[in-house]
Amino acid sequence: MLSNIFKIEQIKYDDNSANEYGRDWTYKGSVNPKAIVFPSSKEQIKELISFANKDNEKIVPSGGRTGLSWGAVATQNEIVVSMEKLNSITNVDNEEKSLSCQAGAITQNIQNAAQQQNLLYPVNFASSGSSHIGGNVATNAGGVKVIKYGSTRNWVSSLSVITGNGTELHLNKGLKKNNSAYDLRNLFIGSEGTLGLITDVELHLCKNPPKLKVLLVSFNEFESLQKFFNKIFNQIELYAFEFFCKNSLCAVLEKFKIKPPLSPEMNFYVIVEFEAVESEKLLEIVEKMYGEKLIRDAVIASSEKQNLELWGLRENISESIAIFNPVKYDLSIKRQHLNSFIKEIKHIFKNEDSSKPSYFLFGHLGDNNIHLNLIPEPNKDIGSQKEKRLFDFLKRHNGSISAEHGIGLLKKQSFKFMNNKNEIDLMMMIKKDFDPNNIMNPGKIFDLKE
Ligand SMILES: Cc1cc2nc3c(=O)[nH]c(=O)nc-3n(C[C@H](O)[C@H](O)[C@H](O)COP(=O)(O)OP(=O)(O)OC[C@H]3O[C@@H](n4cnc5c(N)ncnc54)[C@H](O)[C@@H]3O)c2cc1C
Repeated sequence: MLSNIFKIEQIKYDDNSANEYGRDWTYKGSVNPKAIVFPSSKEQIKELISFANKDNEKIVPSGGRTGLSWGAVATQNEIVVSMEKLNSITNVDNEEKSLSCQAGAITQNIQNAAQQQNLLYPVNFASSGSSHIGGNVATNAGGVKVIKYGSTRNWVSSLSVITGNGTELHLNKGLKKNNSAYDLRNLFIGSEGTLGLITDVELHLCKNPPKLKVLLVSFNEFESLQKFFNKIFNQIELYAFEFFCKNSLCAVLEKFKIKPPLSPEMNFYVIVEFEAVESEKLLEIVEKMYGEKLIRDAVIASSEKQNLELWGLRENISESIAIFNPVKYDLSIKRQHLNSFIKEIKHIFKNEDSSKPSYFLFGHLGDNNIHLNLIPEPNKDIGSQKEKRLFDFLKRHNGSISAEHGIGLLKKQSFKFMNNKNEIDLMMMIKKDFDPNNIMNPGKIFDLKE
C-alpha cells in the first residue's frame, strides 16, 4: 500500500493532480494515473520500487513535465513519481568546478547557483525555468548551445540511480577520467525513465564565456544560409547558430506584438551568437555576402537588452505556435543532405492554400537539428503517406527522428521503422536486465513483448 510508504500529504488521487502530473507539455489525450506520489527521500523511492516489483505496479518518473515526446505520460494506471520535492542543490565546488544536486532541481536554479560562484552550467533551452535536471539527463536534453558545449551528456560527471530491480548505483562518482569498462552512467543518460529513477546528479561546470554578441541575418535561399554557415564555422567561435523560417518569425511577431528588427518577408533567418571580439571579422563576411545578394539583411545587437530581444524571436517560437496544436518532429540529418531535406519538406507538405502556413521550421541548425512543426490537416490522419515520405527520406539518408527530444510514446512506431532490429533487441535486453518486471515507464520507447 502506498500509504505504508508515504505520508498522506505525499499522495494525490484527485483528477486535477492526475491531469497536471500525468502528462507532459505536448500530450493532449486522456490520462489515468493510479496515484501521484511525491517522495522526499531515497528510502521512499527504494521502498516504492520494491512494492511495485512485488505487487506488479508500474511507475512513471516525472520531472518538470516539459518533455515533448510523451515520456512522462501515465495512460495505463501507473503510479506517477514526481521528483519535485527532491530539488536541493547540495554543493557548488569552485575548485573542482562541479555542482551536486538532487534530480528534481530545476535547470534554471542550477544555472543560477553556478552563476553565484561565477561559473557556468551551459546547457540551456526555453524550458529551463521548469525542467528538472533528472528529466534533462533522462532525455539527454540539448538546446541552443550544443554547437559550443554539447548536450547534457557532456556535463554529467556522476549519477545516482535506483534501477527497476531496486539496485542503488553511484555511477562515475564525479570523475573527469574513468575508463573502467562499460560506462553505465551513459546508459541512463537518455533512458527516458525506462531503466530506473535518477535520484542525484553531479555536473561539471565551466568558466563563463567572454562577452558575447548576437546577430540576426535573413536569407531567401536555404543554400545561401548554408554557405554562410560554412564560411563562418571555421573562422568564428560560435556559441549558437539557430534558425527559423518566415512563418515562425511571423507567429512570434504576431503573438508578442513585436516590431520586426528586419523585414519579415525573407524565407529564412538565423541567430548567431559569437564572441564580441570577433564582431569585425564576422561583419566583414556578412557585408561581403550581402554584396553578393546571398544575405538579404542583418542586424547586430548593441546592448545586452537587444541581445535578449533577438534571442526572444527564436526562444518564443514554441509558445507562439502552440495555438496551431502542431505535430512536432525533431529531425536530424547530416549537413550534406540538409538542403535537399528542406526542399523535400517543402515538396511533401506544401499547402494547396498558399495563404496559410502548413508548417513551421526552426531549430538548432548548427547541430543539423530541425524542428518541423506541422499544422494538422483537418480530418486527415497524420500517420499518413506524407509522414511516410518524410521518414523514408530520413532513413535513406541515415537521419534520425529524434535529435534531442527522445522517443517516449509519441515516436515508438517511427523509432521501430528507423532503427536496426538488432540494435533494438539489444536495448530490450538491457532494459530486461535493469528492470526484469518491466515496472519502469513501461511502453515508452518500445513494447517489450514485440
Ligand atoms: C518550450 C520548450 C522548449 C524546449 N526546448 C528544448 C531544446 O531546445 N532541447 C531539448 O533537448 N529539449 C527541449 N525541450 C524539451 C524538454 O524541455 C526537455 O526534454 C527536458 O529535458 C525535459 O525535462 P523535464 O524535467 O521536464 O522532464 P519530463 O518531461 O518530466 O520527463 C521527460 C522524460 O524523463 C523521464 N524522467 C524525468 N525525471 C526523471 C528521473 N528523475 N529519473 C528517471 N527518469 C526521469 C520521464 O519519465 C520522461 O520519460 C523543450 C520543451 C519546451 C516545452
